[in-house]
Amino acid sequence: MEKKRLGNTGLQVTPVGFGVLTVGKTQLNLSIDEGAEVLRYGLECGINFLDTAEYYETYPYIRKALQGTNFEPVIASKSLGHSYADMKHAIEEARIALNRDMIDIFLLHEVRNDPDWVSRAGAWECLQEAKAKGIVKAVGISTHHVDAAARAAETKEMDVLFPLINFRSLGIRKGSGVGTKEEMAEAIKSAAAAGKGVFAMKVFGGGNLTGHYLEAIQYVRDLEGISSMMIGFGYHHEIDRILDVMNGTIDPNYVPDLSEKRIQIDQGDCEGCGACIERCPNHAIFMNKNGLAEVDHQICLTCGYCAPMCPVRAIIMY
Ligand code: SF4
Ligand code: SF4
Repeated sequence: MEKKRLGNTGLQVTPVGFGVLTVGKTQLNLSIDEGAEVLRYGLECGINFLDTAEYYETYPYIRKALQGTNFEPVIASKSLGHSYADMKHAIEEARIALNRDMIDIFLLHEVRNDPDWVSRAGAWECLQEAKAKGIVKAVGISTHHVDAAARAAETKEMDVLFPLINFRSLGIRKGSGVGTKEEMAEAIKSAAAAGKGVFAMKVFGGGNLTGHYLEAIQYVRDLEGISSMMIGFGYHHEIDRILDVMNGTIDPNYVPDLSEKRIQIDQGDCEGCGACIERCPNHAIFMNKNGLAEVDHQICLTCGYCAPMCPVRAIIMY
């Protein structure tokens, strides 16, 4: 697969990256061997860009997949941490768990808006310091928010932007409401023009747009300023399909199997604590008349962020 320049980072990445969240315990929950095997298949097929996070707990899959190989993918990780100490811990954990002296890309995970970014000043400072020390090559943010993405272009210290975008604007936020794909595309364009490396997430809106497979990919592929898009793979055939798209050999009428992943909340187990509602970045969980949590599947992006919050493991992804 051809590689593209990731802004001014000096990194070269394939136009499709492997979102490792999918194989982990909040989604398919594959064994380390199974997940590593899928990951290695992706690497053998030429994918050289991996997305992970402290929160995903997926470092062991990557380490296992790389064991005994010559693959040297670009690895992007991130932390939800706010303080300097949180971020320092996250970077060290990644270096040890991935057996790497330097992590290619490290991000503030899921920056929501200006106050959120400001409250994470300590973590941001730690990223700058890690970059200066050479233990992280490039730093930036991941975000679902137009406001945060729009700040990328003017933020000198920022090397990369990892925004959410898809052709239906699913999950794009702005202020305390919803944002549009046009607004996010504009922020991406400005960031790229300012030399930031941009790679996209949620191209399929967390599975909700999988039925529009080719349209969803083409929309992001055509956007100005995008170097790569992260796609979560759990099976070989999903990797094969994306290669067909990239090689131009896909059947133009291709429609994937729509046995979609879904988040469900077991009403028998839920205790109505509300922790998942607070955690969901997309406001996709509500309290029903029985005082139990329920998922609105029209809004849910199947990101899996809610699942680890549940003290009774009532949240399951099928
Ligand atoms: S309900 Fe859970 S899986 Fe769905 S968008 Fe919210 S956090 Fe993500
Ligand atoms: S976190 Fe678990 S127990 Fe609490 S409301 Fe959500 S599903 Fe129910």
